[in-house]
Amino acid sequence: MSKKHETPLLDELEKGPWPSFVKELKKAAAKKESANDLLGALEQCYKDNRTHWKHGGIVGVRGYGAGVIGRYSDIPEQFPGVAHFHTVRINQTSGFFYTSKALREVCDIWDKYGSGLTNFHGSTGDMILLGTNTESLEPLFAEYSSHGWDLGGSGSAMRTPSCCVGPGRCEWSNIDTLDITYDLTQEFQDEMHRPAFPYKFKIKTSGCAVDCIASIARADLSIIGTWKGDIKIDQAEVQSYAKKGMDINAEIVNMCPTKCMSYDGKELKIDNENCNRCMHCIAKMTKALRPSGERGATLLVGSKAPFVVGALLSWVIVPFMKLEPPYTELKEFIRKMWEWWDEHGKNRERIGELIERKGMRDFLEAVGLDPLPQMVKEPRRDPFYFWKPEELEK
Ligand code: SF4
Repeated sequence: MSKKHETPLLDELEKGPWPSFVKELKKAAAKKESANDLLGALEQCYKDNRTHWKHGGIVGVRGYGAGVIGRYSDIPEQFPGVAHFHTVRINQTSGFFYTSKALREVCDIWDKYGSGLTNFHGSTGDMILLGTNTESLEPLFAEYSSHGWDLGGSGSAMRTPSCCVGPGRCEWSNIDTLDITYDLTQEFQDEMHRPAFPYKFKIKTSGCAVDCIASIARADLSIIGTWKGDIKIDQAEVQSYAKKGMDINAEIVNMCPTKCMSYDGKELKIDNENCNRCMHCIAKMTKALRPSGERGATLLVGSKAPFVVGALLSWVIVPFMKLEPPYTELKEFIRKMWEWWDEHGKNRERIGELIERKGMRDFLEAVGLDPLPQMVKEPRRDPFYFWKPEELEK
């Protein structure tokens, strides 16, 4: 083991009452040369005010094009332990449920081949294993696969689907987010492991509009559970909330985005026709309000973080789809979207950006959907759909 690096700049980040990644790095550095050199290399980056990671070449394991992200240092002579410091993505379990035995297994294998540093979870959802060298990739992958683990997606591929805890822990879940995620992961193995798309494609599934997985902001396809029936009201519980000090008009009625609620001090009323199932009132008055009727999901397309154009939120495309195994309608819809995107998308253009560029009408025609009022994102602005003469006659 080479000597400990001096890290005066990083040491500053250990101060304060919050957890520090530097503290964790130092713990790992006591055991692993690569983690020790990572500290030194990072200190150097801070000193020079620039990164010393270079984007270098494709690395991976046989038969896969995705799952490993190549990282190389541009000062390997100074820090040989991080000359290669590749990131490995392991496909997480649906809803992030693990036994401690499974977690130990992941960490034990990682200690054997890598730096021991992890990130649970990456923003795509995978377990991120930080830092191994090219020679270790095949044996590492062989050992993980022999224990039933697989790599996640990376690059211009379908990324590892992820979801909220859904019916595993949450009474509001309108769909089985865990099963949908597992099923889609199995169905689209090829698309996940062998990058063939214009750019990345993320699918995230939330059981209700509280959207704990933030699918509306982070997924090219957001699947959000919803219901068709009325919101059932227990008026006695409403009174109990009022007695305990809740200002029902200020906290619930006035916060309803569609203004479809009213409360006269005795009775809470909801005009269900105008409710957009946002979940605000239900999440606030758990005991008094409850969804009812048929369950399914709203499908939204196109969110992403800023890159070619600014950040986008997903856009409602299918207001309601029943989601039951084997999810044939959903899978067919996904394939149709991909076909259109594959044909028209430019390199590194997300599907939401392509819809912005080519227009919603092109997209709807390609996936075989009729325009619906629920798709209108911003009323009284430019119409997003121009009818053709033959459509008007119909
Ligand atoms: Fe209003 Fe949202 Fe409650 Fe519907 S779910 S009544 S839109 S607050």
